[in-house]
Amino acid sequence: MKDTSEIFGENVFSLSVMKARLPKETFKEVKAAIDNGKRLSDEAASVVANEMKQWAIEKGATHYTHWFQPMTGYTSEKHDSFVNPTDDGNIILRFSGKALTQGEPDASSFPSGGLRATFEARGYTAWDPTSYAFIKEGVLCIPTAFCSYGGEALDKKIPLLRSMEALNKQALRVLKLFGNEDVSSVKTTVGPEQEYFLIDEKGYNARRDLIYTGRTLFGAVPPKGQQMEDHYFGAIKPRVQAFMKDLNDELWKLGILATTEHNEVAPSQHELAPIFTTTNIATDHNQLTMEIMKKVAQKHGLVCLLHEKPFAGVNGSGKHNNWSMSTDTGANLLEPGETPYENAQFLLILTAVIKAVDDYQDMLRISVASAGNDHRLGANEAPPAVISIFLGSELTEILEAIVKDEPYGAKEKELLKVGVHVLPKFPKDTTDRNRTSPFAFTGNKFEFRMLGSAASVALPNTVLNTAVAESLRQFADKLEGVSDFTTALHDLIKEEITAHQRIIFNGNGYDDAWIEEAEKRGLSNLRTLPDAVKHYMDDKNVALFTSHKVYSEIEMQSRHEVFLEKYTKLIDIEAKTMLEMAKQDILPAVNAYSSELASSTENVFAQETLDEITADLTSAYGSYKALKAAVEKSDEIEDLVEKADFFKDEILKDMTELRTSCDKLEEETAAEYWPFPTYGDLLFAVR
Ligand code: ADP
Ligand code: MG
Repeated sequence: MKDTSEIFGENVFSLSVMKARLPKETFKEVKAAIDNGKRLSDEAASVVANEMKQWAIEKGATHYTHWFQPMTGYTSEKHDSFVNPTDDGNIILRFSGKALTQGEPDASSFPSGGLRATFEARGYTAWDPTSYAFIKEGVLCIPTAFCSYGGEALDKKIPLLRSMEALNKQALRVLKLFGNEDVSSVKTTVGPEQEYFLIDEKGYNARRDLIYTGRTLFGAVPPKGQQMEDHYFGAIKPRVQAFMKDLNDELWKLGILATTEHNEVAPSQHELAPIFTTTNIATDHNQLTMEIMKKVAQKHGLVCLLHEKPFAGVNGSGKHNNWSMSTDTGANLLEPGETPYENAQFLLILTAVIKAVDDYQDMLRISVASAGNDHRLGANEAPPAVISIFLGSELTEILEAIVKDEPYGAKEKELLKVGVHVLPKFPKDTTDRNRTSPFAFTGNKFEFRMLGSAASVALPNTVLNTAVAESLRQFADKLEGVSDFTTALHDLIKEEITAHQRIIFNGNGYDDAWIEEAEKRGLSNLRTLPDAVKHYMDDKNVALFTSHKVYSEIEMQSRHEVFLEKYTKLIDIEAKTMLEMAKQDILPAVNAYSSELASSTENVFAQETLDEITADLTSAYGSYKALKAAVEKSDEIEDLVEKADFFKDEILKDMTELRTSCDKLEEETAAEYWPFPTYGDLLFAVR
């Protein structure tokens, strides 16, 4: 048996592996490519490719793939063999520098939001040396970026890397103002906590809704749900324990440090948290984690559901995006400091985040929008669709004192001056009590809690990085070259906090009163994907992304289209699955049961149940026909915005009606007649 330290990272072509295996000069080039984005020379690429191949073959790999993240939000790979034929009919294992650095997958089967029509069908993948190559199931995976012939990003990685660069550039300007001459780069860091459900594969295989859509489209709520609150942090069941152990081993081999695991609130729901790392690596790792969760579950006769809301009436799954910024000298920029200067810098960075979140509420909301997540946000389990920031009382009082020029704290006789005073210490743990806030400061990082469990973390972080870069740019513009830095800094923080105070809210985000209050404060409340995405191309958003060179306007247009396309396609599949299940499973089953009831009408139970069922069957069939007609109508709508609205306003409403009447029938029909496993069967099967 190998121990954890031996397993950890054994399938990763990491920095230490490269250092050990590459010639000194080549390693230096690779390191420069990773640290400063320098392009690798063709010679170096060949050397790296050859060594990477050798290493991979030693580990039993036979194929390689450019691993990338198209706009679907999933990862893609196309396997190629190392094997090359030679003239004499033999083979040679070869992997060239060009094969490492560039690939040409057929781009036409990936969403491009119109970019394909405008440009060319071909797409290119290019090696991203900032994320390490790894071996997954005998295949050497090379993390790559994916773009069109004209260089337009067709993936989630390119804009993310651009946003990190934008933030790096502006953060360095601000850090220089505080005399941090030794800092040469600032990177954002992310630790995504991942929620998921594990159910038995037998139940899963018996339900077409789970198979086609990842969520249940029918199902009456069982007598026991999460009301006993016995699952959260409860004892982990042996089958789940075995799954978690296997999962950890697989993740560790890939250098993904999964640390904590526990049960979540809903039955069959669990959570995994990794140790945080640089944002682009964290993004790759989270994609891998989701993929590996599913595979490992299969080995245990389980199915891992990553859908944001697999069961109506039961808590859904989210992903908490813990986010901060750190320097290459090891400082966390959201860590309050010890000296007045460190504190002043912390307050300015904090102000930059507060301003960014307020200015780009709509974009942050859009960044977590999906058909699945629409079922969570605003329900009483997940943060509302309104974005606000939780700071905790101490930090809020400090900011208020600055805004009002009032003394802070019992002992302070003087006014609190940024850059002059040491901040009063605030205990870190008191900041993490509020679980209802969409965007919470947790002592030395922010936790963005609106993400759905299935989402890639790439877009939320692209938005966050760019919005914060914009705040920092404005601050640096104002502060560079001023004669009295301390006064200018104090005034700037005071002015910005005054302007953005409305976004700070420390109360209960699940409370209806907050939604009313938020409206009075002028905060946006974009409840659904179509509502939110209408703001995607707003002038201020286009200006933000184009000025920081994160997206071109054309790239934004294409992404806008992909959003709507994905939304309508998903709901279309759900609606059609419902129609199929209603017509082929539910209605015939209920009909058979009513025939049996009809044969014994001298019995009061049979007679009364039959009456009930007959009425409900009629209404269910009516809902079925209404949904069917609506789906047919939706096919005729060409305009994507109009189509998305139709799905939101009509199809989803008809789906709910069909579901409600079928769920009622479930409660009335004898169990032996019901055509598939119930919620109770699905949620309590794993022991
Ligand atoms: P808490 O229990 O307060 O939520 P943890 O220390 O358990 O805090 O961290 C929760 C998640 O936040 C973990 O995935 C962790 O790696 C991540 N995290 C911690 N510090 C940072 C940071 N500076 N940047 C990004 N993520 C972080
Ligand atoms: Mg947390």
